[in-house]
Amino acid sequence: MEQTYAGGCLCGAIRYVARGTPSNQTHCHCETCRRASGAPFVSWATFPNAQFSFTAGQPSRYDSSVRAFRQFCARCGTQLTFQLNGAPETIDITLASLDQPASVVPVDHIWTKRQIPWVKLADGLPRFETDRKTQS
Ligand SMILES: [Zn+2]
Ligand SMILES: [Zn+2]
Repeated sequence: MEQTYAGGCLCGAIRYVARGTPSNQTHCHCETCRRASGAPFVSWATFPNAQFSFTAGQPSRYDSSVRAFRQFCARCGTQLTFQLNGAPETIDITLASLDQPASVVPVDHIWTKRQIPWVKLADGLPRFETDRKTQS
């Protein structure tokens, strides 16, 4: 049976469901994730966009760069998704917005050259200075 991943924002206005097998599970330390969330880093997983849907509410959209946009709850501010304009077949969701955030486990860190020095990590996961092409 296909796994279902349900989640939503802090206030409960926006709810979503993703199905299938997640990929690219990662902790992203880039500046855009940091500022968008107000947190040191953001943990993500990719799902097929055809297997993702919002089940309650309408998220707001912010074009965080020329190549990507993010969706979030306009009422409470929770960051929910990331999508590349050039890859509409996939969608990234914030693992911390899942109802069961332990159900998807990150496998590496990306953009570690932007990691805040007071974040001390000992999880032993692979680290990449920028994207996955440049391991640090
Ligand atoms: Zn909300
Ligand atoms: Zn990022």
